[in-house]
Amino acid sequence: MIPFSKCPACGGEMVEKEVEKLLRGGIHTAILTVWAEVCLHCGERLYSQETVRRFEQIRAKLEHQEVVEFQPIGQSFQVA
Ligand SMILES: [Zn+2]
Repeated sequence: MIPFSKCPACGGEMVEKEVEKLLRGGIHTAILTVWAEVCLHCGERLYSQETVRRFEQIRAKLEHQEVVEFQPIGQSFQVA
């Protein structure tokens, strides 16, 4: 899927894992679970092109307030 068997940042071993990704667009935030290659050493995450495209689409929807298809899970708060 991803052409890295070693971490491009530190050379550590990469494993495929399900991770939680937080996306922001405008005032909205979305959380989704995606597969990523994660470095066991430094925690660097690599996403496939398809996943990155999905992030961009979701960010654009958040920015344009097109959130009807997303499921609300609670409020977000900013803590000073
Ligand atoms: Zn690394």
